[in-house]
Amino acid sequence: MTSSVGIVPPPALARAGQETSSVVRDSLILAATPGILSFSGGFPAPELFDVEGLRASYDHVLRTAGRRALQYSATEGDPDLRAAIAARLASQGFAADPDRIVITTGAQQGLSLLAGELLGPGDTVLVENPTYVSALQSFAAVRARAVPVATDEQGIVVEALADAIRRERPAAIYLVPNFQNPAGHTLPAARRAAVAELAAAHGLWIVEDDPYAELRFDGAPRLPRISGYPAVHDRSILVGSLSKLLAPGMRLGWLHAPAPVHRAVALAKQAADMHSSTVDQAAAAHYLATHDLDAHLTTVRHAYRERAEAMLAGLAAALPEGSHWSHPAGGMFIWARLPDGHDTAALLPKAVAAGVAYVPGAPFYVGTPDPATLRLSFITNQPSAIRTGMARLSTLF
Ligand code: PMP
Repeated sequence: MTSSVGIVPPPALARAGQETSSVVRDSLILAATPGILSFSGGFPAPELFDVEGLRASYDHVLRTAGRRALQYSATEGDPDLRAAIAARLASQGFAADPDRIVITTGAQQGLSLLAGELLGPGDTVLVENPTYVSALQSFAAVRARAVPVATDEQGIVVEALADAIRRERPAAIYLVPNFQNPAGHTLPAARRAAVAELAAAHGLWIVEDDPYAELRFDGAPRLPRISGYPAVHDRSILVGSLSKLLAPGMRLGWLHAPAPVHRAVALAKQAADMHSSTVDQAAAAHYLATHDLDAHLTTVRHAYRERAEAMLAGLAAALPEGSHWSHPAGGMFIWARLPDGHDTAALLPKAVAAGVAYVPGAPFYVGTPDPATLRLSFITNQPSAIRTGMARLSTLF
């Protein structure tokens, strides 16, 4: 005989940010829908993937060390890959130590592992407003409280950050300093230094999520990583990814953390998935050792600049008068705001019917959203398709 007990949904279902997760799912679906020109997902241009180079690397690894490449491996990740990432960071002025790197299954896993290690239920994490939706999901999953901090076209506003620190007593701050997702802004050096000083003075962890640093296409010099400031070397975690440099389907990311966090994250990763794919890591390490990633990225950056320009050129005619939008110096996104009274979420079905898609801005906000905002990714489509998409967009208004 079975007793009749009501079915209680698992706690994760009750607390998951269901609205925000649907945005990510919808983007993936729209990007794969025939006939729709999708500017929604941040999908790297597939024709620019170095399929031949990667095929040769997988081939080499399986031919010369196949049995090792198909075996379980260390949780922290492939030593050659960690060394290659550390060397790349060092060449960019960030003193990285391979022993402080954990290879993760995409930067996304880095964010969720860090959420679990740095934040407990009810702990506060300060975030740029708007911010990356899936980071918010990672914070929600551990029942942390994300508190928004105002941003302007250069990123987080230092005075607003200082106020929020005094008011909220946060445990951590999460930010995307380069070509932010979704708003596209890049934090100037002086603000980076101020963030580091505030974090050091108030004992905050910094999670510096930096997948786009190498996608600058305006020719300006690279800005220093916040995690490289001496004041925060023991309290800042730099999160990176090969998704935008090689291919997102390999699901390879990394984080560089102070020793205690490195240890904790490695233990948490062991529980999550033991390690990231051995063969993918080995192929990536071989690729980085034998191919000129900088030359490849020069091609990618050139293509992305052309695409950004094509989109910028079409926006004035596509969006209603009084709209304004960001002018990205790199990365993948343009962030636009329509005049008051427009609701981009309500307009989306009309856009899809016209054969074009974007992401409404609202889910990127913590607290009160601005319904007139939207995010457009310029990287996936070629300039001619972008022009067609802009023409379709103009039919909405
Ligand atoms: N952080 C930010 C800001 C992102 O935009 C993304 C991807 N859209 C990620 C992290 C996750 O990247 P991945 O897991 O593919 O490395």
